[in-house]
Amino acid sequence: MKYIAALIAAISFLQTMIKKLIKRVFGKSPKVRSVGAAQVIPFEVHGVSRDGISFGARRVTDGLQAAGFQAYVVGGAVRDLMLDKHPKDFDVATDATPEEVRRVFRRARIIGRRFKLVHVMFGEETVEVSTFRRAIEAEEAETDAHGRILRDNEFGDQEQDAARRDFTANALFFDATTQEIFDYHNGYADIRANTLRMIGDPVVRYREDPVRMLRAVRLSAKLGMKLDAATAAPIAKMKGLLSNVPEARMFDEMLKLLLSGHALECIKKLRQMELHHGMLPMLDVILEQPMGEKFVMLSLQNTDQRIEQEKATSPAFLFAALLWHEVLSTWNTLKEKGEEGPIAAMHTAMDEVLARQRAQLAIPRRYDTVMKEIWLLQPRFEQRSGQRPLRLLALPRFRAAYDFMLLRCESGEVDVELGAWWEEFQHANDEQRADMLMPDTGGTKKRRRRTKKPASAHQAELPIE
Ligand code: ATP
Ligand code: MG
Repeated sequence: MKYIAALIAAISFLQTMIKKLIKRVFGKSPKVRSVGAAQVIPFEVHGVSRDGISFGARRVTDGLQAAGFQAYVVGGAVRDLMLDKHPKDFDVATDATPEEVRRVFRRARIIGRRFKLVHVMFGEETVEVSTFRRAIEAEEAETDAHGRILRDNEFGDQEQDAARRDFTANALFFDATTQEIFDYHNGYADIRANTLRMIGDPVVRYREDPVRMLRAVRLSAKLGMKLDAATAAPIAKMKGLLSNVPEARMFDEMLKLLLSGHALECIKKLRQMELHHGMLPMLDVILEQPMGEKFVMLSLQNTDQRIEQEKATSPAFLFAALLWHEVLSTWNTLKEKGEEGPIAAMHTAMDEVLARQRAQLAIPRRYDTVMKEIWLLQPRFEQRSGQRPLRLLALPRFRAAYDFMLLRCESGEVDVELGAWWEEFQHANDEQRADMLMPDTGGTKKRRRRTKKPASAHQAELPIE
């Protein structure tokens, strides 16, 4: 495999050298040409090679072209390749209808009801294929009372497909056969100038779909591109429209933002533009607490690092972190009231915070279990005598809870000594562990007896899983 890869690299290097030589000898270089409303930019100018296209996307564009259709790699992948970044996935746009696309490939299925897309599968890779579509003019479109477009499902041609996209940088079409880029909105020049610019009138485009404001912030943070002044200007006045966006869509967008690998930068930008209000209402409250802010920022930084190192990241861990100081302060208040034992109070606090959060932002319930486990295990790190540390260590959720506890240490909420003790304890042998355990304070018996009474059952070790 290595040799083949080296051979391919050598051949493509030779090709480039030969092209350069021909250019020098004959003085001719392929130029940008106009085809209809598009600027067609040749490989020699843009330098994005088909080698950057995934196996699946190549197969899809080849297959569709061989069947007589137009097919281009489009959107974020072309933009990322131009910026020398690794595309997350490859989308293909075509003039074939979803049914026609499905017929070309063996493993393809149509998804979506209103606007149909096709997923074409090659082993682990799924390529999303969409038929060119056009934006529906505001007058004929079905909108909500604030002008947000509810239906956007008409087929169109390539030019119309470019115009309905959000940013000029996201509207480039790459032909993997000719290696040409089709550009209708000066996206090529904008990318080269590192500018993220909305296609059309930003005010109109934000009204049609307020989520574009969040996309502007996320993509500029993720790509390190500056927001064009006219694209940024209306956001301050229009951000209120975000409150009309369905919660599930806001949630998806937030997840993309938090798991973009540039969450810290995104949140900073959202705050600068005062957009975080509509985004994660709790974030406001959290960021205003001196302890909470540090903890949230550390968690985001930690997530960004994990993504960079290609380590697994769990949304539940991140949500647990974002809401931790809410849980903590509610817990403390309940404990001060003294109406229930500390662990029962923790359960009440968790439920209260989740209910409040759910009313404002749709964090799906499927994350609750893991979030609660992480929170519930936190007080158990304080218990360092008897068998308890060993039992904690053996729990499947130990790792996540431990990582969480380290963030609490780092943020100054708990003593770093606790983190250091657990770090050492994990890696110690039996004998060393026995030495490390703290003397039993004799509280165990009392607690055990209490477990029989239903009211204070929570006071014993927490039942996890
Ligand atoms: P990422 O790298 O985060 O995936 P992306 O630009 O590829 O960024 P996607 O959400 O995958 O983002 O969308 C794919 C393409 O669809 C975009 O490049 C853009 O052309 C178009 N698009 C996505 N969302 C919108 C929107 N709200 N309005 C208009 N066009 C959009
Ligand atoms: Mg994408």
